[in-house]
Amino acid sequence: MEYIHSYALHFNLYPYIKFNTKVININYLVQEGQDMLSWSHWGGTDQAFGYPKGKWEIATVAGQEHQVHEVEFVILCIGRFSGVPNIPDFPPNKGPDAFLNGKVIHSMDYSAMDDSEAAKFVRGKRVVVVGLQKSALDIADECAIANEMLIGMYLIIFHTVYILVTYTLIVFLNSCSINLATLLSPLRWAASKFVESYIKSKFPLKKYNMVPEHSFLQEISSCSISTAPEKFYDKVEEGSIIFKQSRGFSFYKDGLVFDDDVRKPLETDVVILATGYKGDEKLKNIFKSPTFQNYIMGSSKSTVALYRECIHPRIPQLAVIGYSESVANLYTSEMMCRWLAHLLVDGFKLPSIKRMEKNVLEWEKFFKRYSGQYYRHSCIGVLHIWYNDQLCKDMGCNPRRKKGFYAEMF
Ligand SMILES: Cc1cc2nc3c(=O)[nH]c(=O)nc-3n(C[C@H](O)[C@H](O)[C@H](O)COP(=O)(O)OP(=O)(O)OC[C@H]3O[C@@H](n4cnc5c(N)ncnc54)[C@H](O)[C@@H]3O)c2cc1C
Repeated sequence: MEYIHSYALHFNLYPYIKFNTKVININYLVQEGQDMLSWSHWGGTDQAFGYPKGKWEIATVAGQEHQVHEVEFVILCIGRFSGVPNIPDFPPNKGPDAFLNGKVIHSMDYSAMDDSEAAKFVRGKRVVVVGLQKSALDIADECAIANEMLIGMYLIIFHTVYILVTYTLIVFLNSCSINLATLLSPLRWAASKFVESYIKSKFPLKKYNMVPEHSFLQEISSCSISTAPEKFYDKVEEGSIIFKQSRGFSFYKDGLVFDDDVRKPLETDVVILATGYKGDEKLKNIFKSPTFQNYIMGSSKSTVALYRECIHPRIPQLAVIGYSESVANLYTSEMMCRWLAHLLVDGFKLPSIKRMEKNVLEWEKFFKRYSGQYYRHSCIGVLHIWYNDQLCKDMGCNPRRKKGFYAEMF
C-alpha cells in the first residue's frame, strides 16, 4: 500500500481519482447521423479516437449521489476475479437453501472479512471448501491454521490439478520450452513431462489419488495452475486437510451429499464455495447497450473477442486491461498498458474490424490447440512470449533484446 500511495503522490494522481465511487454502467453516444454498423474501422477510423468522435457516458454512484460523466475514451480495469460469483447449479430443493443447519458462503465473502473475523468465522467448526484453485487452497490452509489442525477440513474437488509450491522454476521451464518449441515441438512436450515428474516426486499426489489426467502443458495453457501455501502438503499428511473427490454434490439439511457416494453424506457446519467468478458477465453488465453486451458475451464456445487481448473490434474508444490471464499477470497487464498508451498517442494504426476479428479467431485456435478440453476463456499462458513480441512489434520495438540466437532461447 505504501508503494501505491507513493506512486500516486509522485505522479500527482490523487486529484484524478474518485474514491468510494461505483460505475453503474457506461453507454456510447454515437454522433447524430453516424451508423456504427457501416464502419469498416474501429470507431470509423484506424486510430484510437473515432472520427467524428462519439462519447462515452459514465453513470456513477457514490453513497446517495448519482452522477453522469462524459469522456472520450474508457479503459476498463474492473478485474476478472471479483464481483460476480460463480455458484454451481443444483437440482430443485438441493441447493444451499436446503442446508438448514449450517452456513454457505462464497470465497468472495470470506475474502471480504479481515483476518481475525475470518478466523473467528471458521474456528471450532467443521468446514468444507469446494474447489482446488488459488482461493480454495488459501482458504483451506487458513481454516486448518485457525482450527490449530485439530479439526480435519474437507476440500471438495471436481478435477485434480498440478498443485505447485514453487512457481519460478516451473515458469522458467515453461518459458524455455515455449521458446525452444519454435524449433522443435517435442522439447515442449519433454519439458512438460519433466515438470510433471518433478511435481509427482516432490509431493504425494499418487498417495491421495490426485494425479491429474491431463498434462502440465495443458494446465499451463489454460492458466489453471494452482499454487499452494507453504507446508500445504504437511497439513494433508497430518489429516487437517482432507481431499474428497466427487463428480458433483448437493446439499441436505446437515451438509453435503455426493453424486458418486450418496449413501455417505458429509455432516458439516460451514461450506465455502471457492468456485470462481463470472468475469465475462461482470464485463458484460458494465455496458448499458444490449448490442455491446452481446458483443462481449459472444458464443459460449469462444473467448471474449479482444484484439491483442485489449480492445473489442466493434466497441469503439474503449480498452479492457487485465481480462486475459497469463502465467505472469502483472507483466502482461503492464505490456498491455504500454501498448494502449502507444495507441492513444497516435503511435500506430489498427487494422480493419474484419482483420481484427480474423486475428482474434486465429489466436483462439492456437489457445484451443494447446489447452484442448481444458480451454478457458482468454488465457494467453502458452503463447505469452509470442503475444508480448507482437505487442512490441506494434509499438515499433524490437522484441529481440538479447545478443545472440541462443541467448534469446532462455
Ligand atoms: C485467490 C487469488 C489468488 C491470486 N494469486 C495471484 C498471484 O499469486 N499472482 C498473480 O499475479 N495474480 C494472482 N491472482 C490474480 C490477481 O489477483 C489479478 O491478476 C489482479 O488482481 C488483477 O488486477 P486488476 O487490477 O486487473 O483487477 P482487480 O485487482 O480485481 O481490481 C479491479 C478493481 O476495479 C474495481 N471495480 C470493479 N467494478 C467496478 C465498478 N463497477 N465501479 C468501480 N470500480 C469497480 C474493484 O473494486 C477493484 O478495485 C490471484 C487471484 C485470486 C482471486
